[in-house]
Amino acid sequence: MKTARHELVIVGGGPAGYVAAIRAAQLGIDVACIEDDPKFGGTCVRVGCIPSKALLESSHLYEEAQHKFADHGLKVGGIELDLDVMMKRKESIVDALTGGIDMLFQRKGVTAYHGRGRLRDVDTIEITPSKAAKDGQPELITADQIMLCPGSVPAQLPMVEEDNDRIGNSTTALSFPDVPEVLVVIGGGYIGLELGSVWNRLGSQVIVLEAFDRIMPGLDKEMANLAHRSFKKQGLDIRTSTMVASAKVDPKPGDKKPCVIEIKDGDPIRCDRVLLATGRAPATKDLGLEAAGVKTDQRGFIQVNHQFETSVPGIYATGDCIGGAMLAHKAMEEAVVCVEKMAGIGAEMNYEVIPAIVYTHPEIAMVGKTEEELKEAGIEYNKGVCPLGANGRARTLGDIDGRVKILADAATDRVLGVHIIGPRAGDMIAEAAAAMEFGASSEDIARTCHAHPTLSEAVHEAALAVDDRAIHTA
Ligand code: FAD
Repeated sequence: MKTARHELVIVGGGPAGYVAAIRAAQLGIDVACIEDDPKFGGTCVRVGCIPSKALLESSHLYEEAQHKFADHGLKVGGIELDLDVMMKRKESIVDALTGGIDMLFQRKGVTAYHGRGRLRDVDTIEITPSKAAKDGQPELITADQIMLCPGSVPAQLPMVEEDNDRIGNSTTALSFPDVPEVLVVIGGGYIGLELGSVWNRLGSQVIVLEAFDRIMPGLDKEMANLAHRSFKKQGLDIRTSTMVASAKVDPKPGDKKPCVIEIKDGDPIRCDRVLLATGRAPATKDLGLEAAGVKTDQRGFIQVNHQFETSVPGIYATGDCIGGAMLAHKAMEEAVVCVEKMAGIGAEMNYEVIPAIVYTHPEIAMVGKTEEELKEAGIEYNKGVCPLGANGRARTLGDIDGRVKILADAATDRVLGVHIIGPRAGDMIAEAAAAMEFGASSEDIARTCHAHPTLSEAVHEAALAVDDRAIHTA
């Protein structure tokens, strides 16, 4: 068996793994990264953030061309959907980004291994060649330090019989071969709503079934309610407090819809396809954790301390596999902090300031605390709101459905949370995150000159509104 040794070996080449590898190489560490898939980039680049945003963008344009262009005096006739071209565009974006990681690894001196990594003991990993590799041989790699970044996989439900075709997860829904007439999405979280929006815009009747009494439970309730109203207007049929009893493929003679979903206390639904989007589970099975003595919690998340070190000294873990917000930027930040700590640099992770974005239309973005969290913690706060109808740039975009809300500590005026719903909310939230990272007050934002006419003026205006001195809102 071929053997090799590196100072640091990383298992998993997603946002946590590939970013850790690049940062380690920058710091002069001899680093290797093992990835099971032929492409680096992980869930995020291959079957998550990037392909979903590519389809959201394309489907949004399709809808704009049909319903909004005329408002601008643009007459375009005969708009047709070419799903193959849309899918190819998505794939070419993914390929460009995964290819970019290969190039970065080469330029920065990261050794890449393709295959499945498994801990043999505390400092040895066996790599089994991926199924795709025809002539690969197992390899044995030893390391001074190991970082586990295996990420996550879609969670399954025992009563939902997935066949990865008619009934599948987000990966399936990113590549449907045609537009389903009726698509049922199980789960009203951000993945279900983003992909539900894509297929709704492309012509499907989309029914979203959510067991909870509201969509997106982690979001500020006011924002989630506004979003719900907006999605309803767009034609999404969102049914909250709805429990799925079973879902399976069960074709009936004469009925073109092969899937049937049984609802507790409700009528069954027949549909063409089902997207199961009820969260993600850590991909920590079959990693050899037991062989090395790495502990997980009951749900399989790897337990780490504030240095990201596991129960075994010298073995670290970051990203989705350690739990918390399952977001690519959180995984990347953890990876950098972890590697810098290994190199003796005093980096820290600030979990209070991790923005979260839902890329529907309107977009929804938040950072910091929700109103519900502040109330529960008994923290007094002042609130400033700017509706986008008062924003010139939103008017020129023809997109005034939304608002910015700033929550500031009543005693100190320190910004505790910012919530935005509207066009490009995901870009606007960066200012709020930077302000919060620097411990800014709402007065700091209010005293910062914002360019005109921009959407970010709504953030400025909401900051002024915290002190009841907004200029452009009544
Ligand atoms: P992953 O990205 O899951 O990467 C882990 C990698 O490790 C994988 O490539 C896997 O093949 C590899 N691996 C696993 N086990 C082994 C092994 N034993 N040996 C070798 N390799 C192994 N997040 C956002 O921030 N913004 C978004 O807009 C967003 N959109 C999303 C949309 C969808 C549809 C989905 C599914 C997710 C989305 N996410 C988004 C979440 C984001 O993709 C994850 O939080 C992020 O990818 C986590 O990074 P990671 O490196 O921890 O894990």
